[in-house]
Amino acid sequence: MKSRRQFLIQTIPFALGVSVVVKVNAQSNRVDENASSAIALGYKHDASKVDSKKFPSYTPGKNCANCALYQGKASDSWANCVALANKQVNAKGWCLAWAKKA
Ligand code: SF4
Repeated sequence: MKSRRQFLIQTIPFALGVSVVVKVNAQSNRVDENASSAIALGYKHDASKVDSKKFPSYTPGKNCANCALYQGKASDSWANCVALANKQVNAKGWCLAWAKKA
């Protein structure tokens, strides 16, 4: 029979490893601002950094969290977006495909 100490010594590294893998996978699904599809749509993780001369349809207040294509809740800081191959986009981001959430 394992002691509590042996159990903790054996399970904590495993639990930490799973946690790191889950976090890495979640981050690796985030859209890269430098990916060609993101560049084509002018996507920025931070909407305030959008080049408004190049993308005049951007106006302050528009962001992923209030876009119809944002797949998460408005309170989620990252969620998938169908316009960018279902990669995760930042709630504070923006791109040319922005559409007002109904
Ligand atoms: Fe954000 Fe909407 Fe553009 Fe997707 S389509 S990146 S949710 S603004």
